[in-house]
Amino acid sequence: MDPNNLQFQTRCVHVGVEKDSSFNSVITPIYPSSTFAWDDLNTNRGYDYTRSGNPTRRALEENITQLEGGLDCRATSTGMSAIAATMHLFKPGDHIIAGDDIYGGTFRLFVSVYTQMGIEFTLVKMGDPAAVKAAVKPNTKCIWIETPSNPLLNLVDIKAMVEIAKSAGAITIADNTFLSPYLQRPFELGVDVVVHSTTKYLNGHSDVVGGCVVTKDKPLAEKVGFYVNAMGLACSPFDAWLVLRGIKTLGPRMEAHQRGAQALAEMLAAHKAVEHVYYPGLKTHPHHELAKRQQKGFGAMVTFDVKGGKPQAEHVFKTAKLFKLAESLGGVESLFEYPDSMSHASMTHEARRQGGITEKTIRVSVGIEHPDDLVADMKHALDTIPA
Ligand SMILES: *Cc1c(COP(=O)(O)O)cnc(C)c1O
Repeated sequence: MDPNNLQFQTRCVHVGVEKDSSFNSVITPIYPSSTFAWDDLNTNRGYDYTRSGNPTRRALEENITQLEGGLDCRATSTGMSAIAATMHLFKPGDHIIAGDDIYGGTFRLFVSVYTQMGIEFTLVKMGDPAAVKAAVKPNTKCIWIETPSNPLLNLVDIKAMVEIAKSAGAITIADNTFLSPYLQRPFELGVDVVVHSTTKYLNGHSDVVGGCVVTKDKPLAEKVGFYVNAMGLACSPFDAWLVLRGIKTLGPRMEAHQRGAQALAEMLAAHKAVEHVYYPGLKTHPHHELAKRQQKGFGAMVTFDVKGGKPQAEHVFKTAKLFKLAESLGGVESLFEYPDSMSHASMTHEARRQGGITEKTIRVSVGIEHPDDLVADMKHALDTIPA
């Protein structure tokens, strides 16, 4: 059966999972073995040491490769280790362009770690291709794409970035965490490398941290494979198994996430205690048309500015019961958080304000609960803000 002829949801369930030729188990076994015996000095069964490769991890890697439409994938211990692996594709003196509202941890890794190693970063408003073009230098080797951005859900025109990168002789790397391959497939738009924090939608159950790097050509696949092994970034077989299990329900989960997000965004947009809603599924979102063109759905992250400031935000956090005050996103349960002092605390105050994160900003990861319950709970929290 050629998986390319199967629908996405079917591939989520079936690709890569059959790893047990002995007993034909329906579910991929967890192979915790750190080492694999050789039949003789010249022959092993495809695996020798789990840092380098493991059948359970391989099942996950084959599955994600297929879902993104790539050639190879390396499953890593965290999203950050996936991103760190890609930074080793570059050398001191290379220049990378990224958005000024990228994930806080990525910002920290770029500014506080890889700048020290001699890689140069320019952070720009990526929604504006002209700003990106203007930032290109002779040593530009990569355009780093994160779309929609965190937490303000700004979109980046992936095709436009690929064009700019190609004419500069640079590659593009896309962090596809916020939408998952169910809703956005960067390779189809010309991107060279896709990274994920599988901690989020791919696993989807808030019970593992993980990441992956997906490549679509052999030279990059080999380089990434080399660094993941050399630096010891690969994930454990147990974590790989959990993510593989999570992915099986990715399609139905994303549909449920989006239903709740759209309903919540519409309620927020109509509420008098709310100053602004950031959700690409709203017609008023500046990138609504781009979202329709580039994505297969609007995702389930909704950010809004509450009228007032921190006291009003605190009231919402204290009052809403179905939303847990926690960082992270993409799990079946709804979460909300305060980027100014939580997810984006590693950015400087100026960088946050420049990126548009204020004391009013609340980020919501909409789970798969019934939209009516989520809307009622959040509406009650907003209705009861003291005047
Ligand atoms: C969470 C996240 C990461 C980092 O992933 P970890 O699994 O926490 O290391 C990177 N990028 C985005 C967009 C994220 O949301």
